[in-house]
Amino acid sequence: MEASVQTRPAVLILLGPPGAGKGTQARMLEEKFGLVQLSTGDLLRAAVAAGTEAGRQAKAVMEAGELVSDEIVIAILRDRLAAEDTARGVILDGFPRTTVQAQALDRLLEESGQEINAAISLEVEDAAMVTRISGRYTCGTCGEGYHDSFKQPAEAGVCDKCGSTGFKRRADDNAETVASRLEAYHAQTAPLIAYYDSHGVLKRVDAMGEIGAIAASLEEIVAGVR
Ligand code: AMP
Repeated sequence: MEASVQTRPAVLILLGPPGAGKGTQARMLEEKFGLVQLSTGDLLRAAVAAGTEAGRQAKAVMEAGELVSDEIVIAILRDRLAAEDTARGVILDGFPRTTVQAQALDRLLEESGQEINAAISLEVEDAAMVTRISGRYTCGTCGEGYHDSFKQPAEAGVCDKCGSTGFKRRADDNAETVASRLEAYHAQTAPLIAYYDSHGVLKRVDAMGEIGAIAASLEEIVAGVR
């Protein structure tokens, strides 16, 4: 009997401070490679909106720009990874953010016989992040991202992608909270760059340039590790 050839689903991690473009790039990779974007920020915002116990505990922490407890975030991610659609492969956006989360992810993947294909660090300058974050907003229907200075819809007030006229801004996308979020990034998340480098899966991308050029660099990396 012939053994069936199984391609293991890809596991990609996007590392970078708030405003580096993780969400934008993850959505582009999702479309291009048929992967599933898993954003713990999105999952937590959904938990807050749904008023779950985890959401209730996370709300004030998120508003302060600090990190939600490892316990809550790991539980949310574990549940999401167990869903069938993630079998196509995932792009982790905003997870892991601490060494404890990175170690928990290693264990989860080991249990399912998977491994990390690449941890891609989007390298940017802090000074530019406040402007990037303060001006950003998304379509309330399809999630397409826009920016007051860099990317307005072609027709004012109408989403280019789905035609909806409802847009939203995140409560934590203000200058004060961004400063705390950047601080949390440098103190707790940046050490993961060395962590993944020592595991031999780190890739660095200059993410200060134009969205399309950054996307092209990422596509090349992803195509090379799949
Ligand atoms: P994000 O959408 O990735 O910018 O996340 C928004 C907020 O959700 C963060 O500022 C944290 O408060 C929280 N958060 C998201 N992902 C994590 C994580 N992996 N660990 C801890 N807190 C997180």
